[in-house]
Amino acid sequence: MERTPAKYRTSKLRLARLPSGREITTQVHEYVGESGGPKVYLQAAQHGIELNGPAVLRRLHHRLLETELAGTVVSVPVANPIAFDHRSYMAPSELDAVNSNMNRVWPGNDSGTLQEQMAARLWEYVEGADALIDLHTGMPDMLEHVIYMEGNETSRELAETFGIELLMEEAIDEDDDSEWTEQEFHAKLRNTATRAGIPAITPELSNSRRIQHDAVERGVEGVVNVLTHIGVLDGTPTPPVEHTVARNHIGRVPVHHSGLFEPDPDVEVGDHVTAGDHLGVIYNPATFEVLQEPTADRDGILYSLRRESTCVAGESIASVAIRTE
Ligand SMILES: [Zn+2]
Repeated sequence: MERTPAKYRTSKLRLARLPSGREITTQVHEYVGESGGPKVYLQAAQHGIELNGPAVLRRLHHRLLETELAGTVVSVPVANPIAFDHRSYMAPSELDAVNSNMNRVWPGNDSGTLQEQMAARLWEYVEGADALIDLHTGMPDMLEHVIYMEGNETSRELAETFGIELLMEEAIDEDDDSEWTEQEFHAKLRNTATRAGIPAITPELSNSRRIQHDAVERGVEGVVNVLTHIGVLDGTPTPPVEHTVARNHIGRVPVHHSGLFEPDPDVEVGDHVTAGDHLGVIYNPATFEVLQEPTADRDGILYSLRRESTCVAGESIASVAIRTE
């Protein structure tokens, strides 16, 4: 494949209008190389506290300006400026009364709620892509992983190429899984893109609310690996790592009583746990009464364990994924 130095263009995209009449815009970056190559859509900060993604795209920006490429890379570092400016995970309900989570509204709707309109404008750039990477970050104590739709081999190839050890398949048995439909997982960007024939992955890098250099470096390397794998960039991706594949992104250990959670000192993220394994204790901090001793709900990999100790009923203190490979 022929490659030429990137022609760079950037533009302000109007996403929606606020009640005051003020417009919400975001910046779109496009790196255009030799024609006939693939198109890749990169996005970060759909969730306003997930900041390693924009940092990844900033570093990538400087790399792409100095290299030759085939096709087009579209990059949107701040997909959700509303959540970002509020320094919150989601948009405030004052601005979107129906959909708080932007990652449940894809492909959006031109005449819908605020975030549906925002998604619809961005979707115009997603359409026609040959690959999509939606950069996210997770809780402080979470094993980094890359998610793709179960059974979609091309997406899985992208996930393997990215270079993070844990791959997470998200089930697609929409009929059997009420949680899937209730939570509108079908309208996540990754799932909507995959259904539209665009292989898509969601890397979940470490740590929200802060920039963590090693996570950013892994993110840059992962995106460059994918760009190399599909031929935008010359070269070979870094050698594949030994992957662990797991399933059930939905698996959660629920809190039944509000109180203080103390994790079991012998339990660590990344551990292989068995159903019934002790994960810690929830107690009433005023009376010391033990309220719940949460246990692993299934055999699998403990990929996140809550470190924020105050918890309320209905939350989750841990996530266990079922290992499939
Ligand atoms: Zn996220």
